[in-house]
Amino acid sequence: MILITCPHCGPRQESEFTYGGDGANARPAAPEDVDDAAWIDYLHLRDNHKGPHDELWQHVQGCRRWLQVRRDVVTHQVISCHVLSADIADLADSADMVEGER
Ligand SMILES: [Zn+2]
Repeated sequence: MILITCPHCGPRQESEFTYGGDGANARPAAPEDVDDAAWIDYLHLRDNHKGPHDELWQHVQGCRRWLQVRRDVVTHQVISCHVLSADIADLADSADMVEGER
């Protein structure tokens, strides 16, 4: 079990959250200027790090805020958890950024 400490709600079980994808995968600033290979890399290719990893999670059964969670993927220990800024959270609310809801 992963215990995530939401900055607004306190410590909660992972089951209250929805995983939103890789938090380190930055969208190109000008998508119309990147070639197909770079776009495919952004959309589909992920690094498989061992150790600390930045992830997006939404507290769907709590405050519904989007969070940037740094988690060790080996031990599942949550290292840090911060609320995303409003502009990034708006992007995260778009269906194409949320994995597993299709
Ligand atoms: Zn919360």
